[in-house]
Amino acid sequence: MGSQEALTEQTLRSRSDFLELEELGEGSFSTVYLVSEKSTSKKFALKQCYKAQILREKKVHQIFREKEILSFLSTKEHAHPFIVQLYCTFQDQGCLYFVMTLALKRDLLGKLKKLKHLSVKQTIFVASEVTSALEHIHKFKIVHRDVKPENILITETGHTLLSDFGCAKRLEEKPNDIVEEKPKEKGRRGSFVGTSYYVSPEILNGDEVTISCDLWCLGVVIYQLLTGLKPFYDVSEYLTFQRILKCLYDFPSDFPSNDARDLIEKLLVLDPNGRLGAHGAEELKSHPFFTDVRWEALPTIESPLL
Ligand code: ATP
Repeated sequence: MGSQEALTEQTLRSRSDFLELEELGEGSFSTVYLVSEKSTSKKFALKQCYKAQILREKKVHQIFREKEILSFLSTKEHAHPFIVQLYCTFQDQGCLYFVMTLALKRDLLGKLKKLKHLSVKQTIFVASEVTSALEHIHKFKIVHRDVKPENILITETGHTLLSDFGCAKRLEEKPNDIVEEKPKEKGRRGSFVGTSYYVSPEILNGDEVTISCDLWCLGVVIYQLLTGLKPFYDVSEYLTFQRILKCLYDFPSDFPSNDARDLIEKLLVLDPNGRLGAHGAEELKSHPFFTDVRWEALPTIESPLL
């Protein structure tokens, strides 16, 4: 794929089947709307992706990968309560459309901006739902590669949904299947998959990517939720990358939880194999930070985010 023809698929539904109620957000080549399906009055999030922009920015592979992985994770056998679901896709001349689970309370970044930082209880809640979602996708050898507050959506009931699988990858994919993933020259950091503050050292180094890169992101996210700060932050992308490559960060003196600190220290580890959870989610879920979490009951507990 990788051409205009790749954007052509069978059309089953159309934009006119959905009533647009409000705009929810914008991505680099998309706008997301809150819509109501006219025939059922059910509410969804409709992601409208502009073909011209996708082609211009050479994002065809990304959008098809997102569709393929989300479709897989939306079947009955592979669905998960903390992962956004794709109900259908369709297209017209100018756009591709993804109809997805609606997250009425938007994303975690918005919440974080409003509250400055989350409480320990709220962070345990979010981290456990994200851990549960990651455990699920890792079982299928899917690595998300872009876990960050913008990609953790909040539903009306205050539970979280991992979204945006545009950077995700199935680990059995052959390297040449995906244009952006040609092995990089060692030491070249001009382009990478993910987002600069969250990107793992092995991605920056062009080394093999494993599920462990999501564990690094999880460590960054837990730190950010508790402090409102990014652990690896500098004035330029280059300097931010230098910090990541040396795992150079510290904790503020008022950091609120020793268990969280210990967990973060076990996730932000340069060697992907040395991260907690690299050898199975159980070791991560057994960490003292998660002591009070009843993993099986998570979907039904009252959210502390509301
Ligand atoms: P980019 O395309 O640059 O990676 P993005 O992936 O964040 O950006 P979108 O997936 O198009 O872009 O989402 C844009 C915004 O729309 C999100 O930040 C979020 O606030 C909102 N949004 C996305 N999906 C949903 C959803 N299912 N429910 C509610 N809001 C959503």
